[in-house]
Amino acid sequence: MTEASSKKLNWYPLIILALVAALVLLFSLLVLEKTRVKTGSATAFEKAVQPSYRWRMVTTWPKNFPGLGTTAETFAQYVKEMSDGRLQIHVYGANEIVPPMGVFDAVSNGSVEMGHGGSYYWRGKSPAAQFFTTIPFGMTAQEMNGWLHHGGGLELWREIYAPFNLIPFAGGNTGVQMAGWFNREINRIEDLRGLKMRIPGMAGDVFNRAGGTSVNIPGGELYTALQTGVIDAAEWVGPENDLAFGFHQVAKYYYYPGWQEPGSTLELIVNKQAFEALPDDLQAIITVAARASNQDMLDRYTARNNAALKELTEKGVEVRRLPDEVLKHLRNISMQLYAEQAAQDPVFRKVYDSYREFLQMVTEYHRISEHTYFDVRERTQESLSD
Ligand code: CA
Repeated sequence: MTEASSKKLNWYPLIILALVAALVLLFSLLVLEKTRVKTGSATAFEKAVQPSYRWRMVTTWPKNFPGLGTTAETFAQYVKEMSDGRLQIHVYGANEIVPPMGVFDAVSNGSVEMGHGGSYYWRGKSPAAQFFTTIPFGMTAQEMNGWLHHGGGLELWREIYAPFNLIPFAGGNTGVQMAGWFNREINRIEDLRGLKMRIPGMAGDVFNRAGGTSVNIPGGELYTALQTGVIDAAEWVGPENDLAFGFHQVAKYYYYPGWQEPGSTLELIVNKQAFEALPDDLQAIITVAARASNQDMLDRYTARNNAALKELTEKGVEVRRLPDEVLKHLRNISMQLYAEQAAQDPVFRKVYDSYREFLQMVTEYHRISEHTYFDVRERTQESLSD
């Protein structure tokens, strides 16, 4: 044997061994990948190398309060499921960590990562924040969703919240609310005079100019305030929520329509640093979960409000429509207030201009679509039952 051929012969077993090892490795990887695809979840290895996050969310609502508190829980559940548990958010009710009106500051200063509430509670921080919940005689839920997500509204909201270190998302909508609970009949404009009512946001200013006195009391304290006569009237949300609080036990008249809150958007706020510390996929999960829970809340009210209203009327509640004269007066005051505030505050003006232009634009088509259809459905129903 020559020296060269002996070397060649010695290499064969090593090459075969290497080929077998490569095949075994390839096969194992294929099996692992198949298992992962099949179970749809990350492998133990993948989980071990990906960081996971535990966040806290404070809310302005009582823990698990129907519609409002449960939407915060729904959002947290969506995030947990979509992230396969990599981002878990514990939801705290009002006063568990911070009082309801302390939510904005707690998220802004990073004490907690997230909050759920309504932007109009923070009008003391920026008067323009109110547009992102609702304004009297403003947009409906459908219109708000269009403005926020396809009309520039969300960008403006983010601009207003940026100095506070917050990233806002729409996080639920109540639909058109009820005008509220009254222990006094409202037949004329004069009946509003001297009335002390829980009515937050810009609607409170309108109410004050109409001769009443507005106060903002968190939901959890409203029953007692009505019962003890601290206030004469209160608006909260609509039948499902109002029934849950038991307002029918302490007030006689239930007025509609909710001129003051025609489609209130709730907010999910995230601390900017906490959000930016997340990997891209978890940021996307938060965005999509917010969008889904925003819609889910409206769907829930659509499905449940009527049964709750029926239960309230069976309990003896008098459901009444506010007179046109009163509504027209409140509308005039609202428009005056917007004009005055826009003249004083350029930020308010900027958001108001966007809001007003969008509403005007969308109304033109809705006049011949949504509005006409509702009207036609009612009228044809009437003629059928004649
Ligand atoms: Ca309300």
